[in-house]
Amino acid sequence: MKFNTSLLHAGKDRDEKYGATLSPIYQSSAFAQPSADALERIFENRAPGYCYTRVGNPTITEFENRMTKLEGGLASIACASGMAALTNAFLNILSAGDEIVTSASLYGGSIDLFADLEPFGIRTIYVENNHWEQFEAAITDRTRLIFAETIGNPRLDVTDIRALAKLAHSHDLPLIVDNTVATAFLVRPIELGADIVVNSTSKYINGSSNSISGVLTDSGKFKWDYDRYPGLKPYQKFGPYAYIAKLRNGLFRNTGACLSPQTAFLNQIGLETLGLRMERECANALELARWLQDTYPELTVNYPGLESSSWYEIAKEQFGTHFGGILTIRTGSKERAFELIDSLNYVYVLSNIGDTKTLVVHPSSTISLHSTEQQKIDAGVFEDLVRISVGIEDIEDLKEDFAQAIAKAFQ
Ligand SMILES: *Cc1c(COP(=O)(O)O)cnc(C)c1O
Repeated sequence: MKFNTSLLHAGKDRDEKYGATLSPIYQSSAFAQPSADALERIFENRAPGYCYTRVGNPTITEFENRMTKLEGGLASIACASGMAALTNAFLNILSAGDEIVTSASLYGGSIDLFADLEPFGIRTIYVENNHWEQFEAAITDRTRLIFAETIGNPRLDVTDIRALAKLAHSHDLPLIVDNTVATAFLVRPIELGADIVVNSTSKYINGSSNSISGVLTDSGKFKWDYDRYPGLKPYQKFGPYAYIAKLRNGLFRNTGACLSPQTAFLNQIGLETLGLRMERECANALELARWLQDTYPELTVNYPGLESSSWYEIAKEQFGTHFGGILTIRTGSKERAFELIDSLNYVYVLSNIGDTKTLVVHPSSTISLHSTEQQKIDAGVFEDLVRISVGIEDIEDLKEDFAQAIAKAFQ
């Protein structure tokens, strides 16, 4: 199946009872079994089935299966948010004394999370993206995972996933990739060697910003050294499912950041149009970026699809002809950035991405508010930077809106 067909059909359940084209929402906290014995067997993982929605639910399972197909993985776990999915993905294999090596260009929430893990004895070392000597130098015998975003948010640098996976594997380390900004429409990190992929499905997967959620997808391919990751040892019998089995029977179940069935349903509706929306959003973003760059030399436009981007070559090689729906502009000052934002008519001022509607935000005073000055510089966040998440509007209307807002900001 090609991309758009598989969004509709891959991993989708057929409703045998009534033939409904959308699967029912199993809005139920618990599931009855015919006998105490049957329930015991489910609890002991000896039989498939459902007992309690914090652990699993048919509507959520269907969404997980569709995400697994989308990312080309082995199995997925859906969580209450992208941050919950990241937290689960990391902590499933970490303990006190362990270290994370990550690209410095990250979503502000992830930087905040790594700071929150410090009191638990988990240290994070930040290095410049795609600088392999820096990655090599940061890896110690305490390192347990490598992390990066496919497209850094909001720096819009592009990780060379194949090269980073190779480096991670040469040290017997798993590579975890946050694919939220790129989505599988641009690239499937697992095909390039990533071991675990995380998506904040609140963004492009859901597509119209009606719910918060996140999904982690395991490739099942990483060869865990059970002495180095002792927590996985009891799950060795699950073979390639060891990582997912540990999570579902452990931290995921016990921290309780499960998805709601209603959200799993809404996400599946969104998922079906991911290809169509991304195609339009990428086309709009490229045209807007080119037009802003050509028309306004006073702005610095950053978009991976512009030849002026430092990451254009790797973006072209890794993504092909689409470069994502997000671009940034530098305006010269914070005041001008605010003036420009406040002068837009159609565009929403909010901290989100991946909506059908165009959104703008001033990252420095919002998503990166808790970062240090150095962390902001490393993440490409400047006082005069405006991030634009481009929607599916008609491009002429977007250009007109930005033209009048820029005129006001620079008058
Ligand atoms: C939004 C976002 C997250 C966090 O996702 P939530 O669903 O808001 O918790 C993580 N990573 C990236 C790149 C994001 O854009």
